[in-house]
Amino acid sequence: MNFEFTDEQKALKAKVRDMVDKHVLPRAAKIDSTSEIPWDVMKIMADMGLFKFLIPEEYGGSGKGDLRALELSIIREELSRGSCQVDAIYALNGLGSYSITHSGTEDQKKKYLPPIAKGDMLACMSLSEKNAGSDAAALSTTAVLDGNEWVLNGEKIFASNSKVAGVIVIFATVDKSKGAHGITAFIMDPTISKYEVRPFQVLSPHDIGEIILKDTRIPKENVLGEVGHGFRVAMKTLDVLRTSVGAAAVGLAQYALDITIERVKSRIQFGKPLAEQQITQDRLADMATEINAGRLMTLYAAWLKDSGTRKSVTLESSMAKWWCTEMAQRVVDKCLQMWGGYGVMMDYPMQRLYRAVRAPRLYEGTTEIQKVIVARELLKLYPDPVKA
Ligand SMILES: Cc1cc2nc3c(=O)[nH]c(=O)nc-3n(C[C@H](O)[C@H](O)[C@H](O)COP(=O)(O)OP(=O)(O)OC[C@H]3O[C@@H](n4cnc5c(N)ncnc54)[C@H](O)[C@@H]3O)c2cc1C
Repeated sequence: MNFEFTDEQKALKAKVRDMVDKHVLPRAAKIDSTSEIPWDVMKIMADMGLFKFLIPEEYGGSGKGDLRALELSIIREELSRGSCQVDAIYALNGLGSYSITHSGTEDQKKKYLPPIAKGDMLACMSLSEKNAGSDAAALSTTAVLDGNEWVLNGEKIFASNSKVAGVIVIFATVDKSKGAHGITAFIMDPTISKYEVRPFQVLSPHDIGEIILKDTRIPKENVLGEVGHGFRVAMKTLDVLRTSVGAAAVGLAQYALDITIERVKSRIQFGKPLAEQQITQDRLADMATEINAGRLMTLYAAWLKDSGTRKSVTLESSMAKWWCTEMAQRVVDKCLQMWGGYGVMMDYPMQRLYRAVRAPRLYEGTTEIQKVIVARELLKLYPDPVKA
C-alpha cells in the first residue's frame, strides 16, 4: 500500500498552499466577512487551472473521464485553510458541474463544461426547499411540459452561488404522486430562463439565496438525465462531493491547530508558555491525532472513487463527511478555548474559524442523515447472520 502522493499531486498541493498564503490568508478576515465573491482570487485560481480538476479532459478539464476526487480533496483542504468562502465557491461550483458531467448529453457537456473548466462560469445546484431539506425527495417545485418547454413553479432555498451562477442545475417534480420517481433535473441557463434570486446571509457568509420560479421556462433539451431520474442525478453528485466536504473540514481544523500551536508556544501564563502545561499538550495530542485520522478517511474515500476499486463509495464518502465535519468542530472549539478571551475577539482569527466550521455539518446532508446512510450501507454488508 502506497500512502505517497504522486509528484503531480505534491506539486498541486504546494501550488495551492502557496497561492492561499499569498493571496487569501492575508485578507481572509475581509473575504469571509461578506458574501461578495472575491473575483480576483477566482481569476488567480482559474489561471492556475484549479477549476479544471472539476471537469473531464474531453471538455477542457484535467479529470480522466470524470472528476478527480483525490485532487479535489487536495485542493479543498488547502483552500479551506485560507477561507471558507473561497472553498465554498469552488466546491459548490463542483456540485453543479458534476451533475452535468455524469448525466449531461454531449451537447449539454460541450456547452457548459468548458467555460466552467476555464473558470469563466460558476455553477450552482439547487435541490433544497423550505419543506424539503433532509427529505429532499419531498420537494414540491413543479415542472409541466408546454410544447417544447418545461414550465417551472416553486421556491428553492439555500442555493449557493445562485446570484452569480452561469448555470443552475435545478430539481422539480413532474408528478408529485410518484415521490422521488417524479423528480427531474433541469439545466437552468440565466441567458434563457427568467427567475428571481433573493440572497440571504448565513453565519459565515457566502453567495447563497432563494430562487423564485414563476412560470420559468426551460427548453425541453435542457432536461438533465431522464425525466423522473432527477433524484438519482442529485444523489450520484452528492455521493462523490461529500468526501471533499470532509477534506475541507480537515483543512480548516489543521489551520486552527497550526495557529494555536504558535499561540500556546508564545503565550506566557503562570511564568511559562501555555504549551508547557500538560493539559495543553493533552489537547494538542488529541487534535493532531483526530486531524490525521480525518485526513486518512477523506483520502481513502477519494482514492476508492478514482481507482474504481469499488462501484459505490457511498459508505466511505458519508463516513468521511460526517466524521471530519464533527471532528473539525471539536478541534476549532478546543483551539478557541486555548486562545482564551482573544478567541472571541473580532480582530483575532479564531472567531472566523468558529463561524466557518458550523455550516459543513449541515450542507450536502446533515450529520444525522450521513449516519442514516452509513447504517443503511452497513446493514447491506451483513446479508447473512454472523455466528457469535
Ligand atoms: C451554508 C449552506 C449551504 C447550502 N448549499 C446548498 C446548495 O448549494 N444547494 C442545495 O440544494 N442545498 C444547499 N444547502 C441546504 C442543505 O443541504 C440543507 O440545509 C440540509 O440538507 C438540511 O436540510 P434543512 O436545513 O431543511 O434541515 P431539516 O431537514 O429540517 O433538518 C433539521 C434537523 O433534523 C434532523 N433530521 C432530519 N431528518 C432526520 C432523520 N431522519 N433522523 C434524524 N434526524 C433528522 C437534521 O439532521 C437536522 O439536524 C445548504 C445549506 C447550508 C447551511
